[in-house]
Amino acid sequence: MSVVPFFIPHLGCPHRCVFCDQEKVAGASGGLPAPAELLARVAQYAEKARGRDLEAAFYGGTFTALPRADQERLLSPLQPLLAQGALKSLRVSTRPDSVDADTASFLKSFGVATVELGVQSMDAEVLRLSGRGHDAASVESAVAALKEADIEVGIQLMPGLPGDSPARSLNSLSRVLALSPSFLRIYPTLVISGTELSRMYEAGSYHPLSLQDAVSLCKEMLVAANRESIPVIRMGLQPTAELEAPGVVLAGPYHPAFRQLVESELCFDQMSRLLSALPRGSRVSFVVPKGKTSDLVGQKRENLSRIRRLFQTDVVAVREDPSLAPHTVSVEWDGGAMSAGL
Ligand code: SF4
Repeated sequence: MSVVPFFIPHLGCPHRCVFCDQEKVAGASGGLPAPAELLARVAQYAEKARGRDLEAAFYGGTFTALPRADQERLLSPLQPLLAQGALKSLRVSTRPDSVDADTASFLKSFGVATVELGVQSMDAEVLRLSGRGHDAASVESAVAALKEADIEVGIQLMPGLPGDSPARSLNSLSRVLALSPSFLRIYPTLVISGTELSRMYEAGSYHPLSLQDAVSLCKEMLVAANRESIPVIRMGLQPTAELEAPGVVLAGPYHPAFRQLVESELCFDQMSRLLSALPRGSRVSFVVPKGKTSDLVGQKRENLSRIRRLFQTDVVAVREDPSLAPHTVSVEWDGGAMSAGL
């Protein structure tokens, strides 16, 4: 599937989430894309898609908090493309308290197949301190309404918000997993300049997660989600020129390859478990699923260095085996082979 993204402005969002750079976004926003712009963008992506299915996705705002007429202005021009099969599906992102049964059936009637909910936390105090303006019950009812309308639900979480702790993040995750979303996105909280959170940070009343703590916590979250067979389709914000411009991220666990740090840490745990059962100083080879060598080796080969220091192990080779199950690491040595899953 190839995604045609539309970043709609946060027009009329009545909320004040402490982490949201609403003023800057609003200032840069302009209006909603016109029908001709929507069609031109889809046509442009269709040329590059080379036979892959196309999905139009409205990100960046609270789609269902827009006036219904504006939502229709965005969705209507795409209906002929859906009918012809030029577009496979539509996706929107929104807040949990902006979805009810009527909204869900409206979206369904316009062919919206997936709704991404910005949930961020299921903890009452974290939601309050973050100025979210909704509670966990509204998440549960939004998910129920969307599922009732046969719309796929994705959920976004933000560990590290004010009042959060690893235990609270994991508890939020398990409450979200109990709702059986189709996928998750996990974005550790960053302090963006110009936000209320940046003022809290500068006043010393908010302390972001360190990069290492965020990696450890997200690793536990990834394992828990995998155990429930719920894919985590993104961890950490996408590195963009805007985000990486000087003075934008004031503090917090930003890393352009955040997910790889998490996956590498997971591999390190698996390698450690396997090597604990072998004599120190063994000569071993590791085997990983296709495309996972760089996760196992780690950035700057850090995982191999740590393994050598801790176990005096000589890693003579790392190879890929496409038949291995995802998130499996195998070790081979003179005396045999064994595997570790999550
Ligand atoms: S709901 Fe919160 S995060 Fe979303 S646009 Fe409004 S203030 Fe920003």
